Order: sequence, then C-alpha cells, then structure tokens
Amino acid sequence: MKIQPPINILLVNSQLSIFPNLEAILADTGASLYRAASLQEALEQVLNHDFAVILLGLAPASHDGLDTAKRLREQPRSRAVPIIFLAPSGADDFPFEEAFALGAVDYLGEPVNPAVLRAKVSLFADLHGKTVRIAELEDAESERAGLLREVQAAGDRMTEIFAQAPAFMAVLSGPDHVFELVNEHFLQLVGKRELVGMKAKQVFPELEGQGFFDIVDKVYATGLPFFGTNLPIVLQRQPDAPPEERFMDLVYMALRDADGNITGILVHGVDQTHRALAEAAQAESQHQLLLASEELRASEERYRTLFESVDQGFCIIEMMLDPAGNPVDYRFLEMNRMFESQTGLVNVINKTARELVPDLSSFWFDTYGKVAITGEPVRFESEAKEMHRWFDVYAVRVGDPDSKKVALLFSDITARKQSEADLRRLAAEMSEADRRKTEFLATLAHELRNPLAPIRSGLGVLRLAGDNPEAVVRIREMMDRQVTQMVRLIDDLLDIARISGGKLDLQMERVDLKDVLSGAVETSLPLVEAGKHVLNLDITDHLLPVHVDVTRIGQVIANLLNNAAKYTPAGGRIDLSMKQDGDEAVISVADNGVGIPAESLASIFDMFSQVDRNLDRAQGGLGIGLSLVRRLVEMHGGAVTVESAGIAQGSTFTVRLPLEQAGTAGKVHGKDQVQRADGRHARNLRILVVDDNRDGAESLSAILELLGHTTRVAHDGILGMEAAREFSPDVVFLDIGMPGLNGYEVAQALRSTPGLEHIVLVALTGWGTENDRSRSQEAGFDYHLTKPAKLATVEALLAEL
Ligand code: ADP
Repeated sequence: MKIQPPINILLVNSQLSIFPNLEAILADTGASLYRAASLQEALEQVLNHDFAVILLGLAPASHDGLDTAKRLREQPRSRAVPIIFLAPSGADDFPFEEAFALGAVDYLGEPVNPAVLRAKVSLFADLHGKTVRIAELEDAESERAGLLREVQAAGDRMTEIFAQAPAFMAVLSGPDHVFELVNEHFLQLVGKRELVGMKAKQVFPELEGQGFFDIVDKVYATGLPFFGTNLPIVLQRQPDAPPEERFMDLVYMALRDADGNITGILVHGVDQTHRALAEAAQAESQHQLLLASEELRASEERYRTLFESVDQGFCIIEMMLDPAGNPVDYRFLEMNRMFESQTGLVNVINKTARELVPDLSSFWFDTYGKVAITGEPVRFESEAKEMHRWFDVYAVRVGDPDSKKVALLFSDITARKQSEADLRRLAAEMSEADRRKTEFLATLAHELRNPLAPIRSGLGVLRLAGDNPEAVVRIREMMDRQVTQMVRLIDDLLDIARISGGKLDLQMERVDLKDVLSGAVETSLPLVEAGKHVLNLDITDHLLPVHVDVTRIGQVIANLLNNAAKYTPAGGRIDLSMKQDGDEAVISVADNGVGIPAESLASIFDMFSQVDRNLDRAQGGLGIGLSLVRRLVEMHGGAVTVESAGIAQGSTFTVRLPLEQAGTAGKVHGKDQVQRADGRHARNLRILVVDDNRDGAESLSAILELLGHTTRVAHDGILGMEAAREFSPDVVFLDIGMPGLNGYEVAQALRSTPGLEHIVLVALTGWGTENDRSRSQEAGFDYHLTKPAKLATVEALLAEL
C-alpha cells in the first residue's frame, strides 16, 4: 500500500535494534524513513525535513519519550506533526494524559502489529497530505487575492499613466479599429471628437490616403509593431479650421488575449511638430547661413576683384598700441597688387611699418591710430618724406572696434604734387617775368627821359652861351654822354628784340679775339674814366683764333666793362683778362664793386633782372644788358658765368668762347687797331654831313669838328649836292631817308658828278640789315653806318682813309 503523495516519517527510538523492524514494516508504504536515536538527532531531522508523522519509541520505565515529544512540539516545523508513541510491552503506566497533551495522536504497544502500524501511518500520512493541501489552498487563495489587488492596482496605475501620459494613446479593438480607449492628449490632438465606440475610418476621414490605415491594418494582421518618426500627418484639428500639417513619432502595437490572438492595437505617439518646425527652422537658418556665407564669399570675391582692379593701392593694417594705448606701429595684414607700385614696398605681409620704413614719421601712426580708436574715417594728402612720396589716403576702420584694423585706399600722388609744384613755380616765374616787364617799362620810360632832360637844358644853354667855347665844349661832352647812353639803351633793346625774333644775323669772321678787345675797351672807356677806375689788362700774347661777329663780341665785352664801371664805387679797380684755356678762349671782367648777393646770381642773366634797384639808382639801366650778353655768347657757342662773394665783394664775369681749330687758325687775319678816342693820328679831312634831321647832322658835325676835321652841313639832298660841289669834301656822311632826293639818289648823282666821283660816301641809316647794306653798296656808298653813328666807329672809319 503506497501513500500518496510520498511522505516523510521520522523514527525516534533510543533502542537502535527497533529501527530495522519498523523500517521493514513501513517499507512498502513508499514513505521516506528517517532515524533519530536521540533527542538531538530528532531535533536535527525536523529542522531539515517536513514530516507527516513521527513514531516516537518510549524507553521502558522512563519518561524520556515525553520530554522528546515536548521538545519537538516546541519546534515550529514539528509543532503540528502527529506523534504516534510506541510504548514497550508492559508499559501500562503510559502517561496518556501527558502524552496527548503533548500532541500525541495515537499509541501503539509493542510488539507492533505491522498492519495496524501501516494503517495508522497511512491515515496520518493522508491526513497530513490533506492538511498540507488545505494549507496550500489557503495560501493560494490569499495569494490570488493579493494578486488581484496587485492587478487592480497595476490596472489603476496603467489607467492613470494612460490618462496622464505626455504622449497621446488610444486602444483600438477589432479588425475595424474601433476606439476603445483614448487619453486626454489624443483628444487634444484630434480636436475632442466623439471617438469611443467609433471606427477609426469613420472618425478620421481626413486620414484617408495618408497611409495610416494601411499601417494599422498591417500591424493587426501580422502582429508586428510599427515605429515611425517625424511622420507628416494632415489633421483636421478643429471642425471649421483648415487641415493642419503636424509631425508625429508613432508606435502601433498589437494587443493580444490570453491565447495570443490579436484583439486590438495600442496607438502611442508624440506630437513632434514643434521639434520638426524647429529643425526645419534650424535647417532653414543653416541654409540661410550658408547662402549668406556664400553671399559673403561672393561679395568678398567681388571686393577683392574690385580692389584688384582699382589702380589705387589697398591694404588692411592692424594698429599696434603701447600699454598706455598710444599707437606706435602698425602691421600689414593684406593688400592688393597695386600696393607695391604705389608704395615701392615689397613682401610686406605681417611686417610692420617701422620694420619697413624705420624712421617713418609718427604722423602716420597717430592718424591711423585715431581712425582705429574712434572709428571715424579720414581722407588726407600727406608727404611720406622717408619714402620720397606723396599719398592721397582714405582710411576707415574695419571689423569690430577691438580688432584695431584699418583699411587704407590710397594713391601715390607724387607726380601730381610735382607738377603742381612745377605749375606753381611756373606761375611764380611768369608773374615774376610780368613784374619785371612792368618794372622794365617804367624803367625804360625813366631811362629814356633821363638823358633827355640834360640834353634839352644843354640845348638851352648852347642857345644862350653859344659864343662861349668852354661852355660849349662842356655841354657837348655832357650831351654826348647822355646820347651815348640812350643810344646804348636803344641798341640793346633793338638787339634783344632782334634776337628774340630770331632776326639777328651774325657777321662771322675769323679773327684773333684780341682784336675785338680794343674796340670794346674804347667804348667803355668814357664810363671807366668817369668812375675814375683803374682798368688793368691781362691779355695773352698768343693768338686766340675765333670765329665770331666782331661787333657783337665787342658789344659783349663792352657791356661787361660798362657794368663793372657802373657797379663799382668811384676809384675802383677793373681787371680785364683774356687767355686760352684748352680749346676755349676765356675773357674775364672782374671788379671790386658792389658785388652780387648769392640769391641773385642765378637770375642775373635773365631779362629785366636787376639786383635791388636801390643799390645804385643813379646808374640807371634796363636790366637787359646781361641778358643780351648771354644770348650773344650762346649764339657763338660759348657760355658766360658770374661769380661774386656777395655784397661789396666785387664780381667776376667770365665768357668762354670756342677757339677755332688749329688748322684754320692760320687764316685769321688781324684787323688794324682802331684809332684811340683822342683821334691824334687822324688826318684832317673835309667832311660834308647831309641829314634832314638837324640835330643829328649838327651833332655829328660837332663830333667831327671835335676830332679836328672841317665840316659842312646840309639838310636835304639838293642842298647837299650844292654843298658838295662848292665844298669839295673828302668824305660825305649821307642820310638815306630824306625828303626830295634820298640818300641813294644823292650818292648816285655825286658818283656821276665829275670831280666828285672819288669822294668817300658813308651811308647813315636807321636800318642796318644786310639788305640795306647791299643796296647802299649798289648805290655807290663806300661805308654803311647805322644811326646814330658812334664816335669810335666814325673815328675808326675816318682813320682808315
Ligand atoms: P642794367 O645794368 O641795365 O641794370 P644788366 O643786365 O646789365 O642791366 O645787369 C643786370 C643787373 O646785374 C644790374 O642791374 C646789376 O644789379 C647787376 N650787375 C651787373 N653787372 C654787375 C657788376 N659788375 N657788379 C654788380 N652788379 C652787377
């Protein structure tokens, strides 16, 4: 007989011999048997196992068994286990009351009847099994109740979560997706429409065609969940409002019953529209940024192209400040191609201005520093002396104020400044020339009137004291000086006019330069003598062969001598030297006179130029003499220079003329020395002067008389013819332009008058051109003099006869 379910039985007995017997009896019950020979062992066994029954042997005549029962009762695991006492035979005094009080359920006397024992054990085992099951049932019941409570609580929590979830949620049931449950967020999303109990397609007609129903159908059919993010969905959120596009993260999950069959779908989602919009906005702004940066790049490129194409220099500099914030230098960051040609600076990137131009003026740092600090642009023109350039600069701050960056757009305007300066100088020169011309005209009037006054008064004196020879001589001399001065002035003027008009013809001859000297000295002698100066001559003995217009070079030397005499206080010293220097003849005229201030040296040869006119006003002059000198010398291929140590230090004028080549020198012929002014070697001649200008005629006649000749005067051609016949002159000075018979006609008539054909005929004209000369020659004249004839020339001419 097997006990079901299998049970454990504890055998407790101090008599070990009893165990095999008991074990044999209970063997076929299938129960598991455990031995315990002492109380100790028994307690151990009940700690380790659950027993259905304990067979506790009572020792004969002892109450040990009761103690053991008592101790077992105290153990929780064995408290309720039925105890069957096995009493030794003869133990009539078994303390039943005590034993049952201790939980014994039965009593078996020894020897044990196996059938009874087995029946009792199986009864208790069964009872034990029932008790266990009942206990188990009780446990299960309370567990179920607990579970129910837990399910309830979980359900409540779920509902709460469902309701409170920040996501929108809905439960659809069945293949038609009927709304069973929706939370607040779902309602808010879809505009509070009546949903529960309705089919999805009915309540969301606007979703038709957007693909959502297909997805739900698929999840329902397959049970596979669907996850989607950022799905665009067009929803009618208010009954009257236009459909609105939203973006959703969505989950559809199949719901199953206990058997695993799909019964519905859980819809779970989050409205991500704001995020999508933000992302779109971000994408858009990134796009815009990209566009802007592209635009910036393009515009930067445009600027670069622009700056590269301008013909101005462009650069960006970064100001460098000292700790006190004062600009001390700047660094070049970038520049265009024109930079180099505009500044002359190369490889400047990252270099500083001071590195490139060490002594650059602080003006540049201050100016740009101010722009960098104040942000106020400037435009200016300034000279960078250290770079030998002028710049026109526009400076403007770029970037944020802390960057201290300044852009410079600039041009090298050195050339413009130069031409401006040239223009200014030209204008100044022109106005100076104009001033000199005006002054010249005033001076001219003055200079012409000056001699006229004494001449006029001289004439008056002559009229009154005509018979006083002494007075007459004095006045004649005075008048002669005055006229000479006027003639000189007018000659100079005419010469200048001729040179300027390119009409001055040079009568070039090959001569020894020394021959020119005597005429010049003679011309100047009156002035030299009047100034009581000592004239020293230092003339080389060597031949100085030159190819010159003798008259003009004579005029040059005379002019220099006259000036020396004029601008040297009375009793001065004048040195005239003439020598050879290489292939040049050098004439120098030095005086110890008023000298020339350094600032006037450069302009002294200019037309109308006069050193401070007040120096020696009495000397007069037009300021054209030296100009004439220079032009004449230059026309001869020579040069004239001046030196003076300054005021009152005297002056030295030096004329250089090219010498004739050695080969040609032999052809030079020396002219006869012109006679000295005193006329001592002149023959006494009979001279007729024919001139309709009475003064001219008379003054010439007077000069000739003074020279010791005998003269006769006639005032027209006819009278002249008569006088010639009567007087039989050796020489006739004949004016050309006369009323009635002109000079040519008179000359021709005289040449064809017997006895008179060999008279020396001298033409006196106001014109001295080549043409005039050849005409007079044709008419039979021997000489040709321009009026007024100079004493020296007349003398020289007469000396030749
Ligand atoms: P002018 O003598 O008629 O004034 P010039 O052309 O001959 O004109 O001379 C120009 C100026 O040069 C003079 O006015 C004078 O101031 C100065 N000058 C010329 N020669 C001398 C000299 N030997 N010593 C000092 N000054 C001189």
